[in-house]
Amino acid sequence: MKQSLSFIPTMREVPSDAEILSHQLLLRAGFIRQNASGIYSYLPLGKKVLSKIELIIREEMEAIDAVEVFMPALQQAELWQKTGRWYSYGPELFRVKDRHQRDFALGATHEEVITSLVRDEVKSYKKLPLTLYQIQTKFRDELRPRFGLLRGREFIMKDAYSFHATEESLDEKYQDMKQAYTNIFTRLGLNFRTVIADGGTIGGTDTHEFMALSEIGEDTIAYSDTSPYAANIEMAEMNTTFEKSDEVLLEVEKISTPNMQTIDDIVSFLDTEATKCIKTLIFKADEKLVAVLCRGDHEINDIKLKNALGADTVELAYEGDVIELLSCGVGSIGPVKLPLDLKVIADHAIASVVNGVCGANEDDFHLINVNPERDFAVDRYADLRFVQEGDTTPDGEGTIKFAQGIEVGHIFKLGTTYSEPMEGTFLDNNGRNQHYQMGCYGIGVSRIMAAVAEQYNDENGLKWPKNLAPFNIHLIALNMKDEAQKDLADELYKLLKSYRFEVLYDDRPERAGVKFADSDLIGLPIRITIGKKASVGIVEVKYRSSGESTEWPKEEITEKLQ
Ligand code: ATP
Ligand code: MG
Ligand code: MG
Ligand code: MG
Repeated sequence: MKQSLSFIPTMREVPSDAEILSHQLLLRAGFIRQNASGIYSYLPLGKKVLSKIELIIREEMEAIDAVEVFMPALQQAELWQKTGRWYSYGPELFRVKDRHQRDFALGATHEEVITSLVRDEVKSYKKLPLTLYQIQTKFRDELRPRFGLLRGREFIMKDAYSFHATEESLDEKYQDMKQAYTNIFTRLGLNFRTVIADGGTIGGTDTHEFMALSEIGEDTIAYSDTSPYAANIEMAEMNTTFEKSDEVLLEVEKISTPNMQTIDDIVSFLDTEATKCIKTLIFKADEKLVAVLCRGDHEINDIKLKNALGADTVELAYEGDVIELLSCGVGSIGPVKLPLDLKVIADHAIASVVNGVCGANEDDFHLINVNPERDFAVDRYADLRFVQEGDTTPDGEGTIKFAQGIEVGHIFKLGTTYSEPMEGTFLDNNGRNQHYQMGCYGIGVSRIMAAVAEQYNDENGLKWPKNLAPFNIHLIALNMKDEAQKDLADELYKLLKSYRFEVLYDDRPERAGVKFADSDLIGLPIRITIGKKASVGIVEVKYRSSGESTEWPKEEITEKLQ
């Protein structure tokens, strides 16, 4: 590619709204441009990097028999209503209406779409397992889009979904995926760790995240140098890791939680002495999750609707038989009408609270006076948030350290979380109808570009690892007006291309200083400079990663580059 014909608008100044290095450098080196908050264009260099990331991902997906598809970004609300996520996903889900006032979501993720797709086609265990993936634009109205490509509102994700007849088959695929992800992030050159994660809004049990280590990472991970143990400390906040123990629940009291028809029912239920200590209530209607209410300081007029991420609170007002959403942090999705045939199913148990309240995983009942260790088997990582640096890891093999990480990948075992509400079933070998066991597996394709930029740079610019560099070689003619230089540069450009090297040829009539500065900023692995020694057929070769430079006669270049 001739630089004079490309579109690589570099900048000398640091853009004032770019807080972190990767964002600054990707802008300055002309890889991306912001269109609106959290929305970016990928310029030619950026697009090349994306393609290389995608290529590696595709190779590793195909290697474990995942098959590529491409699904709609515009998704019917009905699908999301069926799983309840239309209500529970919160303001992060972009919602649009068509000309007939029908509701649609812009795909934030594709569990609903893919489950409905597979449900209609795969009806026998003989067609399972099946793993499909896509690389596609996702839309999420993030509360705080920031850090350039790291947290966009429109971004590119690789998402894979697997369907199985048995849990064992899902376990196998999960392990395959974990290995494939390890291969991918290794090939991408990322310094990363695989950590135990929480399930976020997707739900499910077994889940791991892949964290690119970086000081600006928004996640904190606990890890050790001598133990394989590593976890996202966020998981400890989920409080949903209880399994009822086999022991008799001696001191636990069961209180019934009736179906509630009106807001008055909710208010009087919340006002009874027994439920005073319940802080969080999850409401279901028609077996769908419709709301999560939590009250501050036991005040009923202080009922708040937590969005599904559990992060932000929103205010509710109620009048007659609709609850109206008044506000929800920054921005608003309201007013939303919630159906009022509500049923309380559970509240969150709190790991740290002895004699707390919990939903007991049982519909229509709450347990009070719950003692986590005594009455429930507590997940051994559940109280991780109380872990301090220097503590011993749960396996006793090491000492805990904390580090910041960028979540670049996330894999989940979903079980039947989606196949049940979506009625995704198949006939097993005994002719019985069963729900698919499912897994889902995401990679932040565009986020990776920023994560790599964050790990590979110096004060002069980016330093792309070989596998991701938009071009391998930056060929520079220092003075295009000097005939010997121009001729040699043209000749080498042709030659290197014929050897299938990817070459960016700086043929612009710019000063040497400008060319070097741009070249450092862009950060291709090898720079071949043609200067004064062109007349005797000598070029300078410089490696961006080590800074090492050397001179080669032109005849030896292709051989030495192999
Ligand atoms: P985060 O915790 O950073 O908000 P997430 O847990 O919501 O991410 P997932 O639903 O697990 O994200 O999506 C799969 C992958 O998509 C993530 O591991 C991440 O790499 C990427 N991703 C998620 N949100 C964004 C975003 N706003 N911008 C860019 N990439 C994203
Ligand atoms: Mg998120
Ligand atoms: Mg996350
Ligand atoms: Mg995640």
